[in-house]
Amino acid sequence: MAKAVKQSAVAKELKKEYLIQHLKEVEGLIVKWIGQRKVPGPFSPHEEGLGWKSEYRPSLEADPDSNHILRSHIRSRALWRHHTEWERQLALAWLLVTQLREMSTGQLPLIRDGDTVGIWTNYVATALLAAFEGLRRNRRVRMNYKIPENGLGVAAGDFKIDTGAATEKQRKAIQEKHSGLVMSIVQQQTMKQLVDCWHEIVVLEEHMTQLVSKILKSRDILYPCSFCRHLWK
Ligand SMILES: [Zn+2]
Repeated sequence: MAKAVKQSAVAKELKKEYLIQHLKEVEGLIVKWIGQRKVPGPFSPHEEGLGWKSEYRPSLEADPDSNHILRSHIRSRALWRHHTEWERQLALAWLLVTQLREMSTGQLPLIRDGDTVGIWTNYVATALLAAFEGLRRNRRVRMNYKIPENGLGVAAGDFKIDTGAATEKQRKAIQEKHSGLVMSIVQQQTMKQLVDCWHEIVVLEEHMTQLVSKILKSRDILYPCSFCRHLWK
């Protein structure tokens, strides 16, 4: 009898240890998740090019186990309400980004032999980026056109938008056309909608970050999930 009592005390101790360990992991997961919730700009440069490739979703939320842990250990209704709205705005932003890309591609100059898809993708993507950033910051759009290192074509910032222009006149013609595209995008209602939507996303993100840091500070995460339910008993 005495032995049985002793064993169960050991088991209890062990469970407590596991639970402490689990809660530490939960905290780590939440911190990582806060970092992932910072959405990259819809047209910003990254390793694979310019702008979103799909609707933004933090990878931890795409993973069913992590998602379950986050939703079980964070019980703040206000947070998840913000989160639902944030997801709705992200879906809307993706829709607008897609529309803007389609509209802007329709305004491309004639494609010439030797032009690559990459060049035309950059042509549109740099125009969208410049228009979005200008409008968002309420600044006049300034393009930074350069001559690429090999002396041929035109670059907008770090991205080549033409490979053929060899003379000053040819370059100027391309720059003017490209600036024209930027200006026409700035005027688009869809772009204005996207800027408003982006503002909402950023505000919601700030609210969520504040709520989550409060939650972490007060350790308001002491709830069971399916991975720790047995440790609470
Ligand atoms: Zn748990």
